[in-house]
Amino acid sequence: MSMQDSPDRRGLLIILSSPSGAGKSTLARRLMAWDPSLSFSVSATTRPPRPGEEDGVHYRFMDEVGFKALVKDGAMLEHAFVFGNFYGSPLEPVQASIEAGRDVLFDIDWQGAQQIQKSTLAPHVLSIFILPPSIRELRRRLETRGQDGADVISKRMQKSWDEISHWDGYDYVLINDDLDATEAKLKTIIAAERMKAAQQPALMGQVRALQSEFEDML
Ligand code: ADP
Ligand code: 5GP
Repeated sequence: MSMQDSPDRRGLLIILSSPSGAGKSTLARRLMAWDPSLSFSVSATTRPPRPGEEDGVHYRFMDEVGFKALVKDGAMLEHAFVFGNFYGSPLEPVQASIEAGRDVLFDIDWQGAQQIQKSTLAPHVLSIFILPPSIRELRRRLETRGQDGADVISKRMQKSWDEISHWDGYDYVLINDDLDATEAKLKTIIAAERMKAAQQPALMGQVRALQSEFEDML
């Protein structure tokens, strides 16, 4: 049997949420570079692409009719309306990855996190909320990112408290002050969660083997 048919462990659904600008995309990119076996959940969205964003890599860009058809067909694990656009996580690639023992990384808002935490995949969720060190610094990061105009930045700032107010629905909460330190903490959390008994279906066989060895010795 190949590894693909019988992975040693189940894949985790690793959810990163934060107010816009706190650093989750930057951290997600660093995690992907650290462990190329992680698969990034490419969300579908009705938002237009930003400069440098590629269809199928950062998002699957589509119109509202196409998006709503996917929701109606049950093809979305979760979906939400954020900053005037629809966003959603396609279900099929997530299922394929976790069954093959690969972790899936989500960059989604609190509404999506809540829906996944209520789904049948909940036992395999690791949810992490990223806080900015201050609101002043959050604004500075949104401005220096240079991807949005002043009106979009102000809309994102107005929404940031709404996102922050859901911090306590997450397994872990990290303050992203020093980027390297936050990255190191994320790696520690992921490494530990991967070793949880619930993530290791092969453990049962291992324990049975120990038991029969034990009985043979008696
Ligand atoms: P989000 O995905 O949460 O909207 P980004 O990852 O795009 O946020 O980060 C917003 C901006 O802040 C980017 O320019 C990024 O380089 C910068 N940034 C992220 N984390 C830190 C940090 N710990 N210290 C300073 N700047 C940061
Ligand atoms: P942005 O437009 O900056 O890429 O994303 C805006 C917000 O939408 C961010 O908080 C991001 O995490 C969230 N988001 C992106 N994709 C999804 C998704 O598939 N589902 C949900 N619920 N939120 C998403």
